[in-house]
Amino acid sequence: MNFSDLGLSEKVLAAVRSAGYEKPTPIQEQAIPHVLARRDVLGVAQTGTGKTASFTLPMLSLLETGRARARMPRTLILEPTRELAAQVEQSFVVYGQNHRLTVSLLIGGVSFADQLKKLDRGADVLIATPGRLLDHFERGKLLLTGVDTFVVDEADRMLDMGFIPDIERICKLLPPTRQTVFFSATMPKEIQHLADQFLRNPVKVEVAPAASTAKTITQRLISSGSKPWDKRAVLRSLIDNAKDLKNAIIFCNRKRDVATVCRSLTKHGYSAGALHGDMDQTSRMATLDGFKKNEVTLLVASDVAARGLDIPTVSHVFNFDLPTHAEDYVHRIGRTGRAGREGTAISIATKADRKYIDAIEALTGDTIEWIGAIDFSSSSSEGDDEERGNSRKPSRRGRGKQRSDAPKNTEARKQDTPKQEERRQEKAPAPRRKEQPAPTPAPVSAPVSAADYGDPSPRPVPSRNEASRNNRGRSKDRGERQVIGMGDHVPAFLLLPIRPTKEKEQKNGTSD
Ligand code: AMP
Repeated sequence: MNFSDLGLSEKVLAAVRSAGYEKPTPIQEQAIPHVLARRDVLGVAQTGTGKTASFTLPMLSLLETGRARARMPRTLILEPTRELAAQVEQSFVVYGQNHRLTVSLLIGGVSFADQLKKLDRGADVLIATPGRLLDHFERGKLLLTGVDTFVVDEADRMLDMGFIPDIERICKLLPPTRQTVFFSATMPKEIQHLADQFLRNPVKVEVAPAASTAKTITQRLISSGSKPWDKRAVLRSLIDNAKDLKNAIIFCNRKRDVATVCRSLTKHGYSAGALHGDMDQTSRMATLDGFKKNEVTLLVASDVAARGLDIPTVSHVFNFDLPTHAEDYVHRIGRTGRAGREGTAISIATKADRKYIDAIEALTGDTIEWIGAIDFSSSSSEGDDEERGNSRKPSRRGRGKQRSDAPKNTEARKQDTPKQEERRQEKAPAPRRKEQPAPTPAPVSAPVSAADYGDPSPRPVPSRNEASRNNRGRSKDRGERQVIGMGDHVPAFLLLPIRPTKEKEQKNGTSD
């Protein structure tokens, strides 16, 4: 099927041609004719499938007739994050290059005044995050009764972020006759309930379930000690030893860790930027822009900030933490291996991650191979400024030493000036891994080798049943074992057998 078979206007088709798209993607093929026919659509599709164009292209066609009135947007698109909202705005710029439509963006972290000016002029398309939209509404600056088409994008992400009550409220402010287009990568029951409540006789369109991972992605697991500095050392080693690393996204579960990991990488001389929800909009955009232009090689990010971002050529994804929701794993690694390209996704796993690995493998149906235990000698955590909660600041000399420890992957390191580079090459000793095995044990707990998980390959982690059998065995043994917590100094009274009290004896009926 071609774009010209979908019923899109000439202006839109011209824009699609200049975007270089040859054929519609499956979600576009399925959704576009229904959106054009003003039907409600329930789309189950994730980012990377071309779902943004599946609603923006027909919306542009529909908007060619009619015009906007002040403070009364004609269409409304809700996005869970500012970045996604900005990205959808960008799509309207690209696909709407032959139209003269007003597109307004209402997102947090940006001045109300500028947004108001645009609203006053009348918006053909209003793209908003739920919170900021309701702020404007409550200030009486916005009327939603003129909305003909309402799009909820990434609904499952909205659920994760606690936006469902806001969406319910917004839906009730819209005219009942509107068209609703609803996209979600997964359909948990809360999302299904929301769809049942607000969509009228929707057409359901669905592409590759969120559970599947692209075959072009090489997935691996690497074991690590559980301490943050262990994981940071493993991460550096992965970066240094990665083949063909052009750029990478490093995912952390917590915002706090995003900042720490980014700081640590920067201090070790890597080119890294952070992206998490607590950063102000300007810095988020600046980091993202730097990453897209390849000025920043490593993007350390949280799920919320990275969800749905369109960064077409990421060679590597590293999971600094394994995600606690298996679906997030699918989304994260989907940042690489896009559009048929090769990609690599490596997750750092500690002993405690066993259950998450099980859940991911159960969801995706993939068995993820383990890389053997990593050798720390080339990237020992010696000099890791973030170690043990930043308690130790590196001396100037310490920093100098780190600089000369050139990791193999020079691309991930900040660009030195030719002079600096020359000096570094003169001074830099050969990587410690080969010629300078660390003389003393690294000041971090040893990495968890594959063997620490039990049978080293291919599935080094004992099964849940085995694990629980082992635990049961251990608790039985406890009576014969020495009390570890007190060392050699166990007070004598703690070693006496416990005698039941009179009360207990009576209760148990054991009293004479
Ligand atoms: P999305 O799933 O909307 O985030 O889109 C993912 C990427 O696919 C974006 O970079 C789009 O520019 C690109 N894209 C969308 N539709 C097509 C198409 N029909 N052919 C090729 N690339 C496309």
